Amino acid sequence: MAKYLVTSALPYANGPLHFGHIAGVYLPADIFTRHKKLQGHQIIHISGSDEHGVAIMQNAQKKKKSYQEYVNQWHKTHKSLFDDYEIQFEFFGQTSAPYHKEETLLWFESLYRKGLIEKKAEDQLQCQSCHNYLPDRFVEGTCYVCDYEEARGDECPKCGEWIDAVKLKNPVCKFCGSKDIEVKSVDQWYLMLTKFSKEYREWFETRKPEWRKTVSSAIDSLTKEGMVDRAITRDLDWGIDVPLEEAKGKKFYVWFDAPIGYVSNTKEYCQTSGEDYLADWWQNDDVEIVNFIGKDNVIFHGIIFPMMSLASGRANAVTHLPANQYVNLLGKQFSKSKGWYVDADKAIKEFGPDALRYALTTLIPENNDSSFTWDGFEAKINNELANNIGNFVNRGMTFFYKNWKEEGIDATHFQSFFKTEAFLDLQTRVKEINATLDRIEIRRGLEQVMSLGQVANTYFSDHEPWAVIKVDKDKCAEIIAHSAIYALTLGCLFSTYLPNLSSKILEYFPDINDDLLRDIYTGEFKLGREYFNQTIVLTKKPKGLVKKVEADRIKELNEVLQSL
Ligand SMILES: [Zn+2]
Ligand SMILES: [Zn+2]
Repeated sequence: MAKYLVTSALPYANGPLHFGHIAGVYLPADIFTRHKKLQGHQIIHISGSDEHGVAIMQNAQKKKKSYQEYVNQWHKTHKSLFDDYEIQFEFFGQTSAPYHKEETLLWFESLYRKGLIEKKAEDQLQCQSCHNYLPDRFVEGTCYVCDYEEARGDECPKCGEWIDAVKLKNPVCKFCGSKDIEVKSVDQWYLMLTKFSKEYREWFETRKPEWRKTVSSAIDSLTKEGMVDRAITRDLDWGIDVPLEEAKGKKFYVWFDAPIGYVSNTKEYCQTSGEDYLADWWQNDDVEIVNFIGKDNVIFHGIIFPMMSLASGRANAVTHLPANQYVNLLGKQFSKSKGWYVDADKAIKEFGPDALRYALTTLIPENNDSSFTWDGFEAKINNELANNIGNFVNRGMTFFYKNWKEEGIDATHFQSFFKTEAFLDLQTRVKEINATLDRIEIRRGLEQVMSLGQVANTYFSDHEPWAVIKVDKDKCAEIIAHSAIYALTLGCLFSTYLPNLSSKILEYFPDINDDLLRDIYTGEFKLGREYFNQTIVLTKKPKGLVKKVEADRIKELNEVLQSL
């Protein structure tokens, strides 16, 4: 059986996460991991905070905190948000930790020894007033493409141009505000992608056919004509020291060490699991490596990190790269700096994990951008989750409990289900859902679960147990028994998407164990049939499963958005 190593993009320890991050990366990674675990595969989900880089330095300075203190605080905040969303990791580490530095140096040494890291002189801006070098966001000026006046040294937020800082017009030092800035030639170390482009392309051709079109065509156009060498060092005082005498005082550029975080965090995880992080995971050819990322991360995960992995021999390169498009807010991109976002933390505290995981899964932007609206949220929870699943399970189980509370329903009424067409249809659907999730089509998989919920609802309504019970209680017992099989199956299927709702459904049934759960989840129904070959007495009185969202509250939340 294949093993899976799932990673989700390291969240940057520099600000709150929004729905776009959760729906685009962490939720699909969590659902896929739960799915493979339920199928019986060995799988680990690894991530952690990305804690270096200029943006963190600037904000820590603004907040008058030490860099370490600042990133620790965001690390804690993000981890607790993931807990609230029931997003689980085998390990969630930090790139400022000593174990990460150790692993990063091993990668550097290997690439350096192989001649894939070289020194080059680079033109850089230096402030003549405070004497700092001004890489990336440490300088702002007028964009030479669109004339926007607050373009940063790495990117123009207006036109999106990848900025060459020395070409900025009217540059201003972000440390001290001085305009007395000169161009100096500075040595930096480069990752020599040009030297490895042939090997890279050969590898990419083996992956291309299986990857999403949006991902493979982006990579294709970026690498077909050859690659560009990239600087991996910076003159900063926060980050990992470059271990060369002549590079004294330089740190690794954040993008170089961040993806190595997947490997270093796995190593740290293996300290407790007792495995070897390389032999058992990163260098194991039986392991499929799955990187969940947003589309803005394709260059690093689809080109640079695979190149670093292949060239250094430290790790196998990524197998699947499910890069999602963006989730917007009312059609416009989320923006923390402009205040255009919904607080993911407040939302989960108000609506709980079932409602948010459900709504956000329906928005996973697997092929196109999607858009969050509060009206859409209300419709999804009330019309879909509550009316379809909540209503069916609640009606069926309440009817069961009320009428067969003490004596239960006997085996023959359950067993008759397994001789019907309806059972074959159920089994086919469950297997299809598994296949859809195997293809990492997480959103589509949920649609298929909901469609099975619809089948169950229709079965219940069409058979009118409330009328049948008045004339033939035995016949009614059969209808309810068949409904209970649907309910338990839905409970098993939801354990990936909505673990909280799932466990509430499973709790109605006596003696559910992991083997039975797996058997039903995968559509085998071998143990499932055996389980229902007994009298079933429900363990407790069913309670409302899905709380509806109040229209008045949605109106308020809409007003908040309109005021932004
Ligand atoms: Zn300055
Ligand atoms: Zn511009």
